[in-house]
Amino acid sequence: MRLRISPRSVSKALFTANTRAAASPPFSSAVQELASFLRDGNPNITVLTGAGCSTDSAIPDYRGENGSYTLNPDYKPVFYQAFVASDDSRRRYWARSFLGYPPVKTTAPNPTHYALAALQTPSLFEMPPIQTTPRENEVQHHQDPPPTQGTQPGFIRTLTTQNVDGLHQRAGSSNVTELHGTLHQVKCMSCGQVQDRSDFQEVLADRNPEWNQLLQSESTSGLYSRMNADGDVELRSPDHHNGHLHYNTFNYPTCFNCGSGHYKPSVVFFGENIPVSVKEISTQAILESNGLLVVGSTLSTYSAFRLVKLAKDSGIPIAILNLGPTRGDHLAHLRYDMGSSQLLMAVAHELGLTNIPGEIKHRKRVLNAVGS
Ligand SMILES: [Zn+2]
Repeated sequence: MRLRISPRSVSKALFTANTRAAASPPFSSAVQELASFLRDGNPNITVLTGAGCSTDSAIPDYRGENGSYTLNPDYKPVFYQAFVASDDSRRRYWARSFLGYPPVKTTAPNPTHYALAALQTPSLFEMPPIQTTPRENEVQHHQDPPPTQGTQPGFIRTLTTQNVDGLHQRAGSSNVTELHGTLHQVKCMSCGQVQDRSDFQEVLADRNPEWNQLLQSESTSGLYSRMNADGDVELRSPDHHNGHLHYNTFNYPTCFNCGSGHYKPSVVFFGENIPVSVKEISTQAILESNGLLVVGSTLSTYSAFRLVKLAKDSGIPIAILNLGPTRGDHLAHLRYDMGSSQLLMAVAHELGLTNIPGEIKHRKRVLNAVGS
């Protein structure tokens, strides 16, 4: 009689570990494979990035499936319809955003952002040749001219991101399409006038001296209220700072241009559609590419998943680099279940790119963010 082993008798942890080991090669093989993938697609790779890219910059991966917040399930995000219709919702949003924006504004890119920027523009971080002045009486030998700078072609042509933090552009990436918009702009919902978010912050500070005082005290103490990735902040107990400070006291302006419209951050809220033009640009980027590299996204949002599906349907090779499972794993030709900073930096080195800034920081926090 043959012994039959029921799947129930295999520990779930062991099963998961084996599945992951089979799906993701050892680090050194991953470096070689991904470097080949980029060489083969050169210079026409499209990159699709998600929140996992920014966790090394300590911006939490907050947007779970179905619009839930993974780090703080009790937190209720502002929905588009509520923001449009309700003064109360707008006060609540802007109060939290007022406190949450300064740390977002000053967040630095991490090695993932820098490596992707270098893979797109290899000359970006090249050191300028050192200029030396010959000393007097020093014999001057003939020297070969320094190697020509900035002639190596890049591997990446376009980058589409689900992130709203602007860190790819800050690291030096170009041709960036922001699927969910950007936190660094506000736009009038009536006439479409755009304001820089930093300028808008100053307007909010002028109109809300008490809130500004709270913000200053947070800056001084370094104790920020809890921040979510869209710039919202979980206020601590009002008693902690000021018993009568409540978001319904927060004052926000009408549009400086039309005088009646209200500003909204240029991010796509839950319940809001992605602009058609952005959809078209991101679609075209996939169709014109020789390969799609997904970095730091679970692809749980359909706007991102559909691009991977489009690549698959169009016969475009797909590589997915994400710590943890993704919705597109079954569509990927190459799959790496690991953090992006270390692997992308090693791949960039493998492809001859050096002097890429940034060290991996906030490691502990990153591991916490993914529940390890
Ligand atoms: Zn307006």
